[in-house]
Amino acid sequence: MAYCSTMRRRTFLQHTAAVASVPFVGLDRLFAPGAPRADALHVNGERLNSVLAAFNGIGRTASGINRVAYSAADLEGRAFTLNLIRQAGLTPRLDAAGNIFARLDGTDTSLKPILIGSHIDSVTDGGNYDGPLGSFAAIEVARTLRERQVRLRHPLDVVIWQNEEGGTIGSKLVIDALTAADLDKVARSGRTIRDGIGLIGGDVSRLSSAVLRRGDLACYFELHIEQGGLLEKAGKQVGVVQGIVGLRWFEVTITGFANHAGATPMDQRQDAMLAAAKFTVAVNDAVRGEPGRQVATVGRIIVTPNTTNVIPAQAVLTIDLRDLEQAKIERFTARFEQLARDIGAATGTSFAFKRLVDSEPALATSSVMDAIQTSADALGLSHQRMPSGAGHDAQEIGRIAPMGMIFVPSVGGISHSPREFTRPADCANGANVLLNAVVALDAG
Ligand SMILES: [Zn+2]
Repeated sequence: MAYCSTMRRRTFLQHTAAVASVPFVGLDRLFAPGAPRADALHVNGERLNSVLAAFNGIGRTASGINRVAYSAADLEGRAFTLNLIRQAGLTPRLDAAGNIFARLDGTDTSLKPILIGSHIDSVTDGGNYDGPLGSFAAIEVARTLRERQVRLRHPLDVVIWQNEEGGTIGSKLVIDALTAADLDKVARSGRTIRDGIGLIGGDVSRLSSAVLRRGDLACYFELHIEQGGLLEKAGKQVGVVQGIVGLRWFEVTITGFANHAGATPMDQRQDAMLAAAKFTVAVNDAVRGEPGRQVATVGRIIVTPNTTNVIPAQAVLTIDLRDLEQAKIERFTARFEQLARDIGAATGTSFAFKRLVDSEPALATSSVMDAIQTSADALGLSHQRMPSGAGHDAQEIGRIAPMGMIFVPSVGGISHSPREFTRPADCANGANVLLNAVVALDAG
C-alpha cells in the first residue's frame, strides 16, 4: 500500500503547485480510473483463463458443473489443482482438515503469512467460476511473483478451502468453529464430513493441528465472482467488498382457526393465510421503507389444511433477513415482531417466531480494503465498495485475521447455475487486483 501512495504523491508533487492546500487523504480521488500506472504488475491472464477452461471439463454434466465436496469430481478437481500448484513451482501441503496450502517464502522470517485463495467445490448443477476463479488466480499470483523474482517480505500462502458450498467447512475447521456432531452431518455427496475429510487426505484425529489463531496471519484476500448484478449495472470493473452480510432466518408460525369457507361471515374469521399475506407485504414495505442495502425475503409458506373450502388454520412461513450492520438486523427483528403483533390483533391470529439461523456480519478490514482500492487504481480499473450478500470462506477467516475480498462482475448477475459466466478480461482484472493488493499490503 505504501509504495503506491509514495509514487502517487511524487507524481502529484510534480504536477501541482498548490500541494499544501490539498489534504493527503484526498489525493486518491484526483487520479480517476483509466490511467494505469507503469509499475503495476500483471499476471499471465491468458494462462489463468486457459486453466479455468481446462477445469471446466471436470464434473461437467448435462445439467451443469457437479463437483460437490467429497465426490469423485471433487477429487479429480483437487488432483488437477495439486498438479497446477506443482507446475507453478510450489510445493502443495495438506492440512489435517483437507485444505490445500502452498507457500512462497518471504524475506522477513519474523512476519506472518499473507493468505490468498478460495475453493474449487461446486453446488449441484453449478458453474465454473464460483470458487475456481479465486483459487486459480491465487496460484497464478504466486506463480507470477516467482517468475518475476519479486520477493515479498511476508510469506505468501495460497489456500484452496475444502467444502465451501456445504457451509464453509474447511475454513470453519481452521478457525475451530465446528463440533464433533457437525462432523457427522451428511454432505451433498452423501458422505459425512468426517468421512469426506479422510477421503480427501485430511485426518480427523489431528484437526487441532489445522487451527489458526488470531495473530497467525498477516491478512486474508479472496477474489470471487460477484454473484449479483450490481457491478454490471453500475458499469464498474471491480468490487471492493466491505464485508459479508449477517443473516438471520426466522420461521414464523401463524395460528388462526379452521372453519367453513361458506358459512363463516367475513368479519368472524381467524384466517392464518390472510395474516401471512398481510405480514409478507408488511415485511417487504418495512425493509424497502428506509435507505440502505438491507434485504428480507419471505421465501416459503406452508398452509394448513390447504383446502379450497376451509379457512386456513395455520401458516408457517420463513423470513431471510440480511445486512452488513448487526444493529440493523436487530432493529428489523423488533420491527417484524411489532408488525406481527399488529396484524395478529387485526386478524384474530397469533404469531410465534423461531430463529433458525443467526450469522453475524463479517466486516472487511479497512487497511485490506484500501490495499485493494489502491491496486485497482494503479491498474486503471473502475471500482466501487459493496457488501457481499453471499457467504464466503472470508467470513470465517475474518474472525481471526484482517480480511478483504475482491469482486469481479458476473454476466447477468447469475451464479450457482450452469449459465454462470465471468468474462476472461474480468477474470484477469481480478487476478491483477489481487496481485497488486498483495504487493501493496506487503510493502505497507
Ligand atoms: Zn464461492
